Amino acid sequence: MSIDSKTQLQTWLKDAHAMEEQAEQMLTAQAKRLEHYPKLRDRITQHIEETRSQAERLKECLESQGESTSTMKDMGGKFAAMGQAIGGSMASDEVVKGGIASYAFEHFEIANYRALIAAADQLAETHVCEVCESILNEELAMAKWLEENLDDITRAFLTRAESDELSGKR
Ligand code: MG
Ligand code: FE
Repeated sequence: MSIDSKTQLQTWLKDAHAMEEQAEQMLTAQAKRLEHYPKLRDRITQHIEETRSQAERLKECLESQGESTSTMKDMGGKFAAMGQAIGGSMASDEVVKGGIASYAFEHFEIANYRALIAAADQLAETHVCEVCESILNEELAMAKWLEENLDDITRAFLTRAESDELSGKR
C-alpha cells in the first residue's frame, strides 16, 4: 500500500520529532552522571538545548503544514532501545559506553535528516528543507565533537579507574 509523498514526508517529520524527544531524555539522563567529566557534560548540556529547539522546529514544520501534533506522543519508545544504551546504563564504564552510543546516535540522526532533506527537496518544501539543514548542521557538529573527544574521555576514564583502584575505592 503506497501513500502519497506529502504524507510520507509528514510521517518522517513526526518520526524525527519522536527521535528528538527520545534524544532529550537520554542526554538528560547521561548529563546527570558526568560530574567528573565537565567538558563532556557541558557539551551534552549544550546539545540538550539544541535538541529541545530541534523538537520545537520540527513541531512548527508540521503545524505549518496543517498537521496536528497531538498524536505525536504515541511514538515515544520507538527509539527506547538505543536510549537505554546512552542514558540508562549503571555500569562503571558508562561514560565510555555512553560516549560510544551517543556517537552512534548522532549518526543515526544525521542519516535521518539527510533522508528528510532529500524528501523535502523533491517535494519543493523549501522551509522544511531549511529547517532540516540547520538541524543537520547541529548533529554534524555534535558528532564531530564526540569523534574528537572520545579518545580523551576513554583515557580519562581509565586514569580515574586506576587511581580509584590504588586508593582502594573499588
Ligand atoms: Mg537531534
Ligand atoms: Fe543530536
